[in-house]
Formats: sequence, C-alpha cells, structure tokens
Amino acid sequence: AIAVVLFTADLRLHDHAPLRAALRAADEVVPLFVLDPGIHAAGFDAPNRRAFLADCLADLDAGLRERGGRLVLRSGPVAREVGRIAAECGAGEVHMAAGVTRYAHRREELLRKELQERGVDLHVHDAVITALAPGAVTPAGSDHYAVFTPYFRRWSAERLRDTHPAPRTVRVPAEVRSEPLPSRDTVSGTSPGLPAGGERAGRRRFSDWKRSGLGAYEERHDDLAGDKTSRLSPYLHFGVLSPVELVQRARAHGGPGADAFVRQLCWRDFHHQVLAARPGSSVSDYRTRDDRWRTQDEAAEEITAWQEGRTGYPVVDAAMRQLRHEGWMHNRARLLVASFLTKTLYVDWRIGARHFLDLLVDGDIVNNQLNWQWVAGTGTDTRPHRVLNPVVQGKRFDAQGTYVHRWVPELRDVPGKAVHEPWRLPAPERARLDYPEPLIDLADGLARFQHARGRR
Ligand code: FAD
Repeated sequence: AIAVVLFTADLRLHDHAPLRAALRAADEVVPLFVLDPGIHAAGFDAPNRRAFLADCLADLDAGLRERGGRLVLRSGPVAREVGRIAAECGAGEVHMAAGVTRYAHRREELLRKELQERGVDLHVHDAVITALAPGAVTPAGSDHYAVFTPYFRRWSAERLRDTHPAPRTVRVPAEVRSEPLPSRDTVSGTSPGLPAGGERAGRRRFSDWKRSGLGAYEERHDDLAGDKTSRLSPYLHFGVLSPVELVQRARAHGGPGADAFVRQLCWRDFHHQVLAARPGSSVSDYRTRDDRWRTQDEAAEEITAWQEGRTGYPVVDAAMRQLRHEGWMHNRARLLVASFLTKTLYVDWRIGARHFLDLLVDGDIVNNQLNWQWVAGTGTDTRPHRVLNPVVQGKRFDAQGTYVHRWVPELRDVPGKAVHEPWRLPAPERARLDYPEPLIDLADGLARFQHARGRR
C-alpha cells in the first residue's frame, strides 16, 4: 500500500503524527510539499519566509534521504496536486496536520472533495501544530476561551500526548517525480540578519538555548538589549519543532525559567483556539469593534515614518529597524511599536499587521493578527484601554540605552537612558543629531485614543 503525507506548517521528521500514521498504514509513502499559488496571490510569500522555507524544505529532504527517502515537491493548487499524486501512485490514503486559518479550512474542504471523488481517505491529525488541539479544552457554555489566564490553567492541567522519535526508514515509490526544490539563494530582498531554517538548525538552537538561556528566561525575557528569549518563533512557525516536545523538554528541565517559557508556548495554543473558533478574526475585530481607525490615506506619512523607524521615539525606531534588518523583533518591542501605531497614532491595526507580515520570518496569521488585536484593544486583552508609553517603556526595558544604540546609530553618542528623550538634550547637542523630532505629542495621541474609545 502507498500513502501520501502532505506537509504544511509541520516541516519536520521528529514527533510527526501524520508521517508516523502513514508509515504504519503503508509500505511506501510520498512525503509531499505543495507550493500553492494561492499563498502568493494572498501576498503571503514574503522574501524572508520564502528563504527560510527553502532552508526548511532542503533540510527535510536531506533528513528523508538519510532514511532512504526524499521529499516530493509540486507547485499548483494544493488539492489538485495531492489528488494527482494520489492517482499517479495509486495511494489509498493521505495524512496531514489540522490547521486553523481560513486558508487551512478551505484547503481541507477542497482536499476532502477531491479525494472523495477518487476514493482516497483523508486523515487529519490534531496536536501537530499546537501542543493541545484547539477545542480540546473549552469553558462552560462556549466553544473557546476568550481570556488567557483561565485557558492557561486548564491547558496546564491537561496531559499532553506522547512524543515520537523520527522514523528510521522512509521508502518512497521510485516513479514519483518531484520538481526541483527552491533555493534560498534565488530569493532576493531578504533581511541581512535572517537566520538559517530547517529542523536540524531548530533543534540545535533549542538544545543550545535550553542549556544557556532557559534558566534565566523569566528574569531576562523583557530585556530588549539582553535579547535573552529563545528566538524559536520561526522554527515553530514552520513546524520544524514540535510544540509538544518543547513543552515536555522544558518541563523536564524545570525551574521558573522553564515555567515562564511554557507559558509563552501556551499563548500560541491560546491564539490558535481563538482563531479556530473565530476564523474571521484574522481580518475583523474579535471583541471590541472599532470603525474609527485612521486609514492608510489619512495617516500615510505617519505610517511610513513608523515603518521606516523615524518616528522620533528612539525605542520605537530601534525596534522597527531591527524588524527590517533581522526579519524578527523582540516581543517587548512588538508590544510597544504596535501600541504606538494603534493607540498613539490611532492607525488601523490591520495596517501594522500587514507590515509585520511583509517582514517577519515568524510572520503567522494566527499569532500576528491576534497579538495585534490584543494590543489594539479589539481582541482578547482584558485591559483594552492600556496604552504603552514608549519613553517609559524604553527607560524600563532598555535602561542603558544599549538597544537604541545598536539600531539607531544617529543616537550612538547620547549616553545611557538620556537616549530615550533626545528632545531634552541641550539645544546645541540636539542640533548636532541627525534624528527627527517626535512625530506626535504623546499626550495628544492618548487624548485622541481615549476620546475615540469613549473614555473621556
Ligand atoms: P520566546 O519568548 O522565546 O517564546 C517562546 C515561544 O512562545 C515563541 O517562539 C512563540 O512561538 C511563543 N510565543 C511567545 N509569545 C507569544 C505570543 N504573545 N503569542 C503567541 N506565541 C507566543 N509570534 C509569532 O510567532 N508570529 C507572529 O507573527 C507574531 N506577531 C506578533 C505581533 C505582535 C504585535 C506581538 C505583540 C507579538 C507577536 N508575536 C508573534 C508573538 C511574540 O512576539 C513572538 O512569538 C516572540 O517575540 C518570538 O520570539 P522568541 O521565539 O524569542 O520568543
């Protein structure tokens, strides 16, 4: 018997339930990845993620070859390609991981139809992309948790499924043809500091970080310049790491750092279960509707200044430049630049979310859109009126100004935390800096936001 394994956001061999099930059911499997033009049409194949994906596919192929197999790549509408492959090799079943986005729902629906017509069974596996399947725990009277803390409590008490090692051998039918794999080198427009993708790179990073960073994670995770978080997000986004395995290995390590890290992993699951229940919240307001946002046309210049890191607020500018340079941004920085755009400039969160998706190597419909909504006060934040002040945040989380010095060279000569308020420097010193005046008075921004949200 032959089975197809459709890889999606789970580009790994370790702890991969669909591959394991296929290998149990069939003598030969077709490990398949489909480059779907729908992703391109949606503008979602941004260069940073395309380059990282190329690494992940190359590494998956290498891992399969070590086990006697190989990766099969096709381009085209995903349901059609899977149907074709199944017909070509006479496969009786297809295995894949469950997804939560609208795209994933539609893909599954089309696949089901296509395969049904051909008499092929589709098996969709839960808890591959998340640690706990969305919907596995629900509060009384609702299909999902709308607040993180009670979700975290329930999630923490659940027993996670067992993990499994990578298979030893994978036999692929010889006659199945593959297109050449994409190469990272052919992708232009990537960020210079982009990390290498792939399961091996991800596993190495986790092992190194578990040894050197996990212990201090609780104390140091908000330190912008210290940069002490795991940086595992792109590996989780592409599924080269198993979230179940990460939770279990962190728990086995133990201690306050591991607890705090597991809690962050739970945020991923939390957002997945929200989006699974409300797929529309990737584009429309989840809880609090706000239709007074300033639009692209109304705030064009301010939006560009924000995107380019020249708002005149040093910590905001540092963060936006980090994003462009690395395709990644520290979580504390994401929070404060998103608050600045949505609450201080009062610009529609979708505009900020789009810019993030254009650059983030971990850019993810679930985590990006729902975190943006959390910050914008339209999502799951239980204190939707809180506004982060970039000067206060800068002084607190970049107390020595090191993060600003790293990313905003124009301010390198301004020592310590004075760098967060260049407008307070003596006039001759200020005049020597090639750095813009603040784009907006924070008090004006706050007043406009509070007025719009009916707080004044
Ligand atoms: P660590 O602190 O080491 O955390 C470990 C893992 O936990 C992360 O890799 C991530 O998978 C998960 N995690 C941590 N915080 C969150 C969170 N708030 N929500 C969901 N998962 C979390 N994360 C993405 O993966 N993709 C995105 O597109 C994305 N967009 C964001 C947009 C905004 C406005 C904000 C405020 C946050 C966003 N995040 C996103 C969440 C978070 O900022 C990143 O996951 C984190 O900074 C990645 O760095 P790390 O791997 O070093 O995190």
